Amino acid sequence: EPELTGDFAALMVWADAIRRLKVRANAETATDAAAARQFGAEGIGLVRSEHMFFDAVRIAAVREMILADDRAGREQALAKMLVMQREDFVQLFSIMEGLPVTFRLLDPPLHEFLPHTAEDVEAVSKATGLDAAKLLARAKELHEVNPMLGHRGCRLGVAYPEIYEMQVRAILEAAIEVVASGKAAPIPEIMHPLVSKGLEMKFLRELTDRVAKQVMAEKGVTIDYRVGTMVELPRAAIRADDLAEHAEFFSFGTNDLTQTTFGISRDDSGRFLGAYIDKGIFERDPFVTLDQEGVGDLIRIAVERGRKTRPDIKLGICGEHGGDPASIDFCEKVGLDYVSCSPFRVPIARLAAAQAAIGEREKDR
Ligand code: PEP
Ligand code: MG
Repeated sequence: EPELTGDFAALMVWADAIRRLKVRANAETATDAAAARQFGAEGIGLVRSEHMFFDAVRIAAVREMILADDRAGREQALAKMLVMQREDFVQLFSIMEGLPVTFRLLDPPLHEFLPHTAEDVEAVSKATGLDAAKLLARAKELHEVNPMLGHRGCRLGVAYPEIYEMQVRAILEAAIEVVASGKAAPIPEIMHPLVSKGLEMKFLRELTDRVAKQVMAEKGVTIDYRVGTMVELPRAAIRADDLAEHAEFFSFGTNDLTQTTFGISRDDSGRFLGAYIDKGIFERDPFVTLDQEGVGDLIRIAVERGRKTRPDIKLGICGEHGGDPASIDFCEKVGLDYVSCSPFRVPIARLAAAQAAIGEREKDR
């Protein structure tokens, strides 16, 4: 069990008394959520809901869903996924004891869940009983030249609403189960990934509210949930005023926002970035420390336009930069409400947030 003790714990108490920014953690397992609490996280800022399905047994249900021929078939597989997600979400809510938990709905392109080589297909088919030829054909059909710019994020929720409907139901049912067991009432935040347009957000918001209302009516329990969006595409930042009409919070996905602003792959940037850093063109790796110029400008624009539409909109960051001290300093300056980072970076983030707050106060003198 990780724990903060002695002088370090004392230092944290001072830091907490000074900082303005809240600090949350990115977590999807019980272990990570518990570690986050130990390190002082004030909520979960990002549950990557798809991670719960990469497990060998669970992925079978996803594959079954992807292979289904029609909506009825997909719904049958989704019913299995619902049970699993609900269980996971109950666990996260229980560990977080009434602190906010932000669930990001399914993000990766569906083909990532399918086996691709003939051998893998054979092995999966043997293990799950799913038809090998169909698996391979579907993997080929779903293949995309640029999957990161393709059928992923909320585009899945628009094309296959039943997937997001299942996830919203799982979140609400889990929250209701936790309330029924007498534990602290959860504050679920439902977050849509890769949104770029107001009308897209409107569609997703309506889907979310419709399902949430239905579940609450079925159970006769009201849950105080919120709906929001990631801001991880330049267009989302520029049209933040439109998105804020239908979103109660924004969370900056600076991994994708850095990728799409520079047009540099977050996965393969190592091939040339070293040369840029050697030649002084880049001072630092923009995927580690937030680029305060281009990407930073987009964040400033989004904060300003989001607040123009909805003055009390809640603003956070959940990309890797949320645990980087120089980036946290920027988050303080631009006026975000919280940062979210991996559990083990929470103590550093608490310190960095305090340091940033001191810097801002000095400036005002
Ligand atoms: C991001 O894009 O910054 C983000 C937090 O989401 P993911 O890393 O899962 O794409
Ligand atoms: Mg992202």
